[in-house]
Amino acid sequence: MIVTPKFRGFICTTAHPVGCEYSVRKQVEYVKNQKKINGAKKVLVIGASTGYGLASRITAAFGCGAATIGIFFERPATKTKTASAGWYNSAAFEKIAKEEGLYAKSINGDAFSNEIKQKTIDLIKKDLGKVDMVVYSLASPRRTHPVSGEVFNSVIKPIGSTYKSKTVDFHTQLISETTIEPASDDEIKQTIAVMGGEDWAMWMDALNKADVLDKNVITLAYSYVGPEMTHSIYREGTIGKAKDDLEATVVKINENLKGIGGKAYVSLNKAVVTQASAAIPVISLYISALFKVMKEKNIHEGCIEQMYRMFSDRIYSGDLKLDSKGRICMDDLEMQTEVQAEVTKLWNEANNDNVKDTTDIEGYRKEFFRLFGFEFEDVDYDADVDIEVSIEGID
Ligand code: NAD
Repeated sequence: MIVTPKFRGFICTTAHPVGCEYSVRKQVEYVKNQKKINGAKKVLVIGASTGYGLASRITAAFGCGAATIGIFFERPATKTKTASAGWYNSAAFEKIAKEEGLYAKSINGDAFSNEIKQKTIDLIKKDLGKVDMVVYSLASPRRTHPVSGEVFNSVIKPIGSTYKSKTVDFHTQLISETTIEPASDDEIKQTIAVMGGEDWAMWMDALNKADVLDKNVITLAYSYVGPEMTHSIYREGTIGKAKDDLEATVVKINENLKGIGGKAYVSLNKAVVTQASAAIPVISLYISALFKVMKEKNIHEGCIEQMYRMFSDRIYSGDLKLDSKGRICMDDLEMQTEVQAEVTKLWNEANNDNVKDTTDIEGYRKEFFRLFGFEFEDVDYDADVDIEVSIEGID
């Protein structure tokens, strides 16, 4: 089949198998060209198929030489429909891991469920015995609670008052004003249930009870703070409440892991283009301005550069450089005063006549399509490709 991008807003419904493999290989190459890390050896990544989770898995495997188990929720191909990007990414990851003699297995299913937790525990017991790192990198619009069966939906809304801001449509590159009404109390509660810390704590509890966590295990989850201009829609909105909950869960998990000397951390990662961030209104304009400034200053990072730096320079460096709230700060470059001052200036200046110059909107658009394996110069998109790709180590 000749695969072309088919998109609606921030969703691309097709993915290119060869392009996704190319993207994963490039990330692997990046890590292999850096210094080896003396770090984790047996790693579980929950949310391992795209974005920060995939980059964490690649860094663990090719930076530390770790055996990895990846959990994700992705769609395999049918005869007529491509698989999701995360499916192709995981197939590529496993293929490359095998080429390099690294253990890699994956479980495709709902990580919020007890069934997938149990399946993961069984696989760890069978193949690895225990794990010494657990990365929790889920981003999901909904969650079925494993005990009550209740279905929760997350929303991205401000709290308390209506939010008005400029935003950009990265396909048409047109700026407009968007208005988002505040969330109800129930919407806040539901967003916390999906993106807060309860499921992370449930995972760590189940893994600990099953005795599959190594002494001194490290577990990580990812959060975001961001600048003042996005606070109303992000950090002080519904998703921010969920992130407050996730960050507070560190204390609970640390208590639970005390007996084995385990430690939980939240890392504040930088804003990047992923399927999850593309769904957040207004963020595309901010990221476009941020990319422009960070690229000009030669400090631009995507997921893989961030995650390699997090492993090498923080987690396994002997100095986590935690902030006053005990968080790892991988957003340090993004949040530099000069960077933010320039981003704010560009944000204020951006309009329909100058958006292509004041921001890196073209870079944003390209990154978006690259998430689905498109827009790589070295990939032949006119070639007929086999869309039915299997993941070798799927359990
Ligand atoms: P992403 O959309 O690229 O990845 C989400 C992952 O979760 C995928 O592997 C997907 O398969 C998996 N997943 C979703 N629902 C699942 C389910 N029910 N069961 C199993 N797997 C499921 O997202 P991302 O942007 O990499 O986000 C990961 C984390 O990083 C989130 O906590 C996010 O808030 C955080 N973060 C993101 C950014 C950013 O700019 N993207 C910045 C800072 C922090």
